[in-house]
This record gives sequence, structure tokens and C-alpha cells, in this order.
Amino acid sequence: MKSFPDGVNDLNNAEYVAWKRSHPDELIVNHVRSPRTHKFTLHRQGCHMVSFKKTALKKERNPKECFDSEAELLGWMVEKKGSPGLPLKGCWKCRTHKLANRMNKRLLEEEQR
Ligand SMILES: [Zn+2]
Repeated sequence: MKSFPDGVNDLNNAEYVAWKRSHPDELIVNHVRSPRTHKFTLHRQGCHMVSFKKTALKKERNPKECFDSEAELLGWMVEKKGSPGLPLKGCWKCRTHKLANRMNKRLLEEEQR
């Protein structure tokens, strides 16, 4: 797992680009923040929605968490238990809704132990 808390995209961070290149199957959780919300959205590597270009509306880069496996992602979710960012949201572009739902369900199961 690798965390990029300061916010990154393909254009501003060579370490992030290198990480993605060496972890082709990774899953990325993007922190989507607005004044009222803080959501965790799950993406697959290569999704265009993860790294948008800088526009007038979107000035800040979002922090990202990169995972090599679902088990690693679940471990992170357990740590983030109670966060307003959970449950995980799916991405319509890279179609992670089913996976996000499955991970949310696994987190609930984990909590009930
Ligand atoms: Zn996506």
C-alpha cells in the first residue's frame, strides 16, 4: 500500500506515476472532498476519473491511497472505521460499484466479529 496524502495526479508527481507503472493491478481510493462531503471513491488503475486536469473548479489535488490487493484495501477500511468517507463509493467510469459493495459488506462482517 502507498499513501499520497498531499494530493497527486499524473501531472504533478513522478513518484505516483512510477508507483502506478510498477503496480498495474492496483486499486486506488480517491478522497473526494467538497466543503460538505468527504467520500472515498474506489477506482481501478488507469481510470481517467482519478486524475482530472486542473480547472477553474478543481484546483486541489485529491489525496490517494493505492492498494495492491483487496485484502490490503480491507485492512485500510478497518483502520478508517467510522470515517465519514465510508462506505466506499464505486466509480461509474471504471465500474467499481460491485467491488465497492463487496468490500463494504466485508467490512461489516469484519466489524461483527
Ligand atoms: Zn474510476
